[in-house]
Amino acid sequence: MTTLNPLIESKVDVLIIGAGPAGLMCANALASAGVDVRIIDKRAVGVAAGQADGIQPRTIEVLQSYGLAEPLIRIGAHFPRASFWNPGPDGGIVRTQRTPSIFSPTARYPYLITRHQGGIESLFHGSMEAKGLHVQRSTIPTAIQLSQVESELRDPKANPVKVTLKRLDLEEDDIEVVHAKFVLGADGAHSWVRNVLGIKLEGDNTDSIWGVLDVYPETDFPDSRNWTFIHSHNGTLMNIPREGDMMRYYIQLSEDPDFVDPTTRRVNKARANPDRLMETAAKIFQPYSLKMLGEPEWWTIYIIGQRVAQKFSIEDRIFIAGDACHTHSPKAGQGMNASMNDSHNLAWKLAHVLRGWADMSLLKTYESERLKFARDLIDFDRKWSKLFTGKPRTEANEDGISHEEFVGAFQTFSGFSSGVGVRYEASAIVAKQHQACAAKLVVGERMIPHVFVQAADIRAVNIHDAMPSDARFKVLVFVGNVADKAALARVRALAEELDAPKSFVHRYGQGDYHRVFDILCICAGSKDEVDFIDVPQMLRPHWSKWVMLRFLGELGLISLLIARVLLDDTDMHAREGGGGFAAYGIDAKAGAIVVVRPDGYVGMVAPYDRLEDISTYFGGFMVEKSG
Ligand SMILES: Cc1cc2nc3c(=O)[nH]c(=O)nc-3n(C[C@H](O)[C@H](O)[C@H](O)COP(=O)(O)OP(=O)(O)OC[C@H]3O[C@@H](n4cnc5c(N)ncnc54)[C@H](O)[C@@H]3O)c2cc1C
Repeated sequence: MTTLNPLIESKVDVLIIGAGPAGLMCANALASAGVDVRIIDKRAVGVAAGQADGIQPRTIEVLQSYGLAEPLIRIGAHFPRASFWNPGPDGGIVRTQRTPSIFSPTARYPYLITRHQGGIESLFHGSMEAKGLHVQRSTIPTAIQLSQVESELRDPKANPVKVTLKRLDLEEDDIEVVHAKFVLGADGAHSWVRNVLGIKLEGDNTDSIWGVLDVYPETDFPDSRNWTFIHSHNGTLMNIPREGDMMRYYIQLSEDPDFVDPTTRRVNKARANPDRLMETAAKIFQPYSLKMLGEPEWWTIYIIGQRVAQKFSIEDRIFIAGDACHTHSPKAGQGMNASMNDSHNLAWKLAHVLRGWADMSLLKTYESERLKFARDLIDFDRKWSKLFTGKPRTEANEDGISHEEFVGAFQTFSGFSSGVGVRYEASAIVAKQHQACAAKLVVGERMIPHVFVQAADIRAVNIHDAMPSDARFKVLVFVGNVADKAALARVRALAEELDAPKSFVHRYGQGDYHRVFDILCICAGSKDEVDFIDVPQMLRPHWSKWVMLRFLGELGLISLLIARVLLDDTDMHAREGGGGFAAYGIDAKAGAIVVVRPDGYVGMVAPYDRLEDISTYFGGFMVEKSG
């Protein structure tokens, strides 16, 4: 029998609504982890130009951990230097200082990269397509319903979220009902998911109105290819180098009655156009010349809102991420970064719960970690925007913002804005009690990158590259010099204890601990003395473990095929490596165990004799299943 309105019903583990940076990051991470995931977007095609463009150092590290940073580094514009300009005595502008763009000494990539949002999104598309996942376009949700049955909500195998989807490019009656285990609303600042669930936003619009222009300019301004902040007699502008010869200008318009209705204080878009924006920019650049070559690549004008959603989840079944959770000014280049890092934080937690390895309670840490981050972000944005949009100090305006105040804040905020200094508070997955045994690896912050050498072949390796985002916990065992008999005996004893049935490795190893834990050994000692083969097998993946490696390879975790014992020494030409134990604050004689979460954040550090504390840590959120 045929019906007039054929209703398709389907099931999926995770349904993602919105294929912007937040949704794509999550979809790609879940697909990489072998999770059954589907992603939809209302747009018929992706972003072709403009919108967000700045990628911060931490986000580059995260993209690198998924194997996606290389094309970005190659194609994007890099700006390691910032430059500050202020009103000059003759009505023009003068340079007051040049500084590094980034003041985070541990940043692996100490610069920002710009690439248009569509270019960033294409990194994910390529990776997802290789795993058979495509964005289903021209599709919107029309209804979402969460089961109220407690047992269903608590059962990770249940599909308690019912979402009705409608195709915009097909007949009106063509709808589908999807039964999902989890739903992520990554549908941007005007989020349908957030609104329909009644999640309120805290905060308000500012009176800050900005024009944004992506253009190919002709200019004699000497700092064009730097991240440049200009406070002039004629207004404020941020100059961003873009890929190729392109430039982006953020132009403050709040004072310009041509763009702002003086009574309503609303954006007067009808009067704005790229030529008018260029005119305003050219006045700010005086005495330097500025002309637009050809047509602009992209432009817009908008009023800045500074808002955070009151919650990021309903019953830990429906989540929101990215602009759906927080909106703020683009002046510190945070939008796309915060959004991708939200879903990077969520994806591994979903993967662990869906595999039955972790308790549902793990999902609570998404909101506790990212809501705190978002509030800090808005707080930072308020302070930074006030400084940026405030009038500069001049002879005529002695109460204005001084250059020292502005640059001082730029430096102070760098840890946060680069993403490198983001720190998660103590929780079930952040245990700080043994911080002292790796004093410089702050528990709750991301693992500090450092170059070691592979003990087997003395090839230099950044430890970040030994820790891909493959949804596994990394257990880094820092040991003394295994060429020394006493040190080796200690390491052997530790390896035996780790391999004992009561060890966390086996208790929470789900029957095959290599799927959950990636154990990596880092030795002190000289490359002339240490033989990696001396390291007990428990602490090093062995070449002959082909069955396990092939299985992981089938899951797409090819990077695991690299067997490594790292050594804290320089390479054969003493160009790279060495000093790792000191950089992490680990005493080589005592050693330490460092647990790095699948998202690259240090979850716990512990001395050798506190293995039971590591067990307690994992017992706080993982399901015990030995094999
Ligand atoms: C016009 C515009 C200009 C911007 N300019 C800048 C800028 O100059 N600088 C800057 O730093 N940031 C800018 N941003 C913000 C930046 O794009 C975001 O911070 C960043 O993209 C956030 O990523 P996201 O994935 O959370 O949201 P988005 O990138 O907004 O992605 C959301 C996705 O969800 C889809 N979607 C929305 N509603 C639905 C629905 N009901 N059903 C299905 N799909 C849906 C959208 O089509 C979109 O693909 C701009 C954003 C916009 C929209």
